[in-house]
Amino acid sequence: MSDKASAPALSPKIPKPTLDKLARLGIKTQLDLVLHLPLRYEDETRLTPINDLQPGVSAQVEGEITHCEIVFRPRRTLIAQLQDDSGEILYLRFLNFYPSQQKQLSIGKRIRALGEPRMGFYGIEMVHPKCRAVGEASELKSTLTPIYPTVAGLPQATLSKQIQLALKAVQLTDTLPTEFLQRLHLPDFASSVKVLHNPPPDILEQDLLERTHPAWQRIKFDELLAQQLSMRAHHRKRQQRKAPALENKYNLINKLINSLPFSLTAAQDKVFSEIRADLQRTHPMQRLLQGDVGSGKTVVAALAALQAIESGYQVALMAPTEILAEQHYRKLHEWLTPLNIEPVWLSGSLKKKDKTEAIARIAEGSTPLAIGTHALFQSQVEFHKLGLVIVDEQHKFGVQQRLALRGKGAAESNPDNNSTNSEIIPHQLMMSATPIPRTLAMSYYADLDVSVIDQLPPGRTPIVTKLINDARRDEVIERVRIACTEGKQAYWVCPLIDESEALQLQTALDTHATLTAAFPELNIGLVHGKLGSAEKAEVMAAFKANQLQLLVATTVIEVGVDVPNASLMVIDHAERMGLAQLHQLRGRVGRGSAQSLCILLFQNPLSELARARLKVIYENTDGFEIARQDMLIRGPGELLGARQSGMPLLRFADLEQDARMLEFARDMADELLKDHPESASAHLRRWMANKPDYLQA
Ligand code: ADP
Ligand code: MG
Repeated sequence: MSDKASAPALSPKIPKPTLDKLARLGIKTQLDLVLHLPLRYEDETRLTPINDLQPGVSAQVEGEITHCEIVFRPRRTLIAQLQDDSGEILYLRFLNFYPSQQKQLSIGKRIRALGEPRMGFYGIEMVHPKCRAVGEASELKSTLTPIYPTVAGLPQATLSKQIQLALKAVQLTDTLPTEFLQRLHLPDFASSVKVLHNPPPDILEQDLLERTHPAWQRIKFDELLAQQLSMRAHHRKRQQRKAPALENKYNLINKLINSLPFSLTAAQDKVFSEIRADLQRTHPMQRLLQGDVGSGKTVVAALAALQAIESGYQVALMAPTEILAEQHYRKLHEWLTPLNIEPVWLSGSLKKKDKTEAIARIAEGSTPLAIGTHALFQSQVEFHKLGLVIVDEQHKFGVQQRLALRGKGAAESNPDNNSTNSEIIPHQLMMSATPIPRTLAMSYYADLDVSVIDQLPPGRTPIVTKLINDARRDEVIERVRIACTEGKQAYWVCPLIDESEALQLQTALDTHATLTAAFPELNIGLVHGKLGSAEKAEVMAAFKANQLQLLVATTVIEVGVDVPNASLMVIDHAERMGLAQLHQLRGRVGRGSAQSLCILLFQNPLSELARARLKVIYENTDGFEIARQDMLIRGPGELLGARQSGMPLLRFADLEQDARMLEFARDMADELLKDHPESASAHLRRWMANKPDYLQA
């Protein structure tokens, strides 16, 4: 897919400033111009008599300027009167204008004005219409005028001209076999892009806007198909790579299972058997373990780790926050020490000496298990014999970090995936409680195998969620006091404020001070991102040991924290938080057998978005449903965490709206690869030549 030669470069005649602006739109080749499709259209193919204008319905009129003046009521405004053959007058009104515009609209000039009419103070008017001076018999346009997405300083006219040139310059031969298109009732590629850039006047504009027109269908199908094909290509590449076969000797695994204070749920059993089988293969596993908050993913990770360790390989377990990584370290330490396995801890905040020592132990292979934050994957960390990488809460890591992780091979590694097939790379197990809705899994994660823990451990009582207005804060505080004096434990979560860590810290400090003053009889802890890791660990340990009854926390406790005795959670300013975050936070309670309560404190007025989110979290406990609703509210980009990395996702197709088409694309990708491999390559070249390899993450 690195064959970029097939996309002809932009014309050398385009001036540099324009090139720069095109680049900002992601346009680097002629083909990119062809695929820069309009947002909407203007109809300059006909004229409407002024007396037929409908308020709110965009139209073009032509007439003579009969009056033009600048008025100052209430702001400096240019008002011109335009009269056509119908005898009616249309007022043209400009709030910002140049002297040249005033000149253009001088009395006697013949003008075409395009805009949306409305009833104004004097009569029917257009505000800021698009005006053009015309001669007596100027021709009307023969096609609708496309309006393109653009950036400041790049006028529609320039963009449009370059696109029209590219449409002539680029070979628009079809990448797909004709019989294939006939079967799917799709038009050919060339006519599709031509129609979208130059729609005939009789086309149904609504079909273009809603992207249901066959030309749009074709483009969306092409895009989805390209994505599916590229997934297949990655899959094949993965099958060609080698990974160590990690045999299942059952020795350590059985020891751990027998020493646990609980038996595995059927769902945990099932997912572990899937992982177990993958690890025995000589190709790298790439599996996503999904399970709702509290479903027990950690123990499955531990079992997978033991399989690698039994086979003489090292394991790296990475978590996105120090608190979570530390908690894993403690848990695994507790579980594995009896098996004579001593994990090593590595995080960015370790003292230099300890860090050097940890890195040395990892490099010489004297520890089989390294647990830590992303510090594990910095360049100075080299594993002796890495066989398995486990990433917890993988959605919290950026795409780049996930890619970097691939580089830590078992043997000498080369980060360029395309280079060799002989390199040995570790198996990879990713875990997430943020479920990926089906359509998303089918497209962006199509190269991942997915295991789902679809069952919670027994004996859990469902969490009750309450929405309480901040005006009733005192009642909530009293409730916390009563619960804590009755032997329960509670979290009080402070929100993010304007994305500012400093402000968040301040609220946490204030809340801690207020609650400490209010409840002298309770031991109240405080944990936030600015604490050193030792301090953080100390607070968490004290809370876990029930020495603290109440823990005031920032969202650092969002993922993974596991204190089963905690059964009350207050989320302050819940209206500021995202759905995934609320679901994760709420999942910190409901981990024991006691009835748990989650109070979402919110402050009015609520934005529409906040209201929608609170409704979803209040009405749902199932993480899958919450994620689905989240995708509807926000769009898929953010869910994937791709936004932060600036990677483009689908441009034209919409996973919800085009779900059926996605299914077709998936089937057709298989067929194309089998029966028309040359078409598949041509299609990938057309659509993927300039795409970064983010799909591998
Ligand atoms: P998550 O999937 O959210 O990471 P954890 O792995 O933290 O969940 O598990 C949540 C809690 O459930 C932990 O206290 C864990 O020890 C416990 N747990 C895990 N599996 C079982 C089981 N089969 N039966 C009872 N408790 C379990
Ligand atoms: Mg977890």
